[in-house]
Amino acid sequence: MDTSPKVRHFLWRLCSKSLPVRRLLKRRHMIEDDLCPWGCGESETSYHAIFGCPRMSSLWSAAGCEEMCVGPAVESFCELIVKWRDIEPHVKVKGAFFGMGDWGEHNSLVFNNKSTPHNCLLAQVARLAEEHGEYLAKIYKPCVATVSSSPRHWTTPHAGLVKLNVDASLPVDGWVGLGVVARHSNGDVLLICCCPTCLCLLDTKNCRG
Ligand SMILES: [Zn+2]
Repeated sequence: MDTSPKVRHFLWRLCSKSLPVRRLLKRRHMIEDDLCPWGCGESETSYHAIFGCPRMSSLWSAAGCEEMCVGPAVESFCELIVKWRDIEPHVKVKGAFFGMGDWGEHNSLVFNNKSTPHNCLLAQVARLAEEHGEYLAKIYKPCVATVSSSPRHWTTPHAGLVKLNVDASLPVDGWVGLGVVARHSNGDVLLICCCPTCLCLLDTKNCRG
C-alpha cells in the first residue's frame, strides 16, 4: 500500500493487536473501565475504535471509504487488509490515512480532552492523502522502458581486429555470471571465458576459461 511509514506503522499495530485501546489497557490493569471514550457505552476494542463505534460508520461514509468497513465477523485485521486488495488504490490510501487520523482524534480526546469537527478532520485526511500521492509521484518517477540498441545479428570485426562480446547474468542468489567471447575477423573463436562472481565478496578467483 502506497502510504506513509507512519500509516503503515498504525496498520501494523492494528494487525498485531498492540493498539492501546481501553479493552487492552484494562486487561493489563492500567485502567479501571474499558468504555469507549466517545461515550457510546460500549467496550473499546480495536475493532470498535476504528470501525464499530456508532460515530465511525458515518465518518467512513463521509470519507468516501465505506467499502473498507466490515462487520464485526472479520477474524483479524490481517484478514481485513487482505480483503482491501481489490479496492481502488486511492480509496484504500485515503481510508488508511483516515483510520490513523481518527486514532489521533481518539488520543486528542483522551489526553487533551479536545476533538476536531468532523468536516475539519475529513478535510485534513483528504489533504494528507493527496499530498502523500503528490510526494510519491515526485520521488518515484515512472520508469520509462529503454529500447536496447544492440544489433540483433553478430557481425565480424574488420580485418586484423578481434571482437570481444560480453554478457552478464544476475540471478537472485547473490552471484553474477560474466561471459566473454573473442572472435577473429574471420569469425573463428579465439577465447571463451566465464566467471562466476559473488556480488558480496567480489571474488574473481574462480574465473576459468
Ligand atoms: Zn464508541
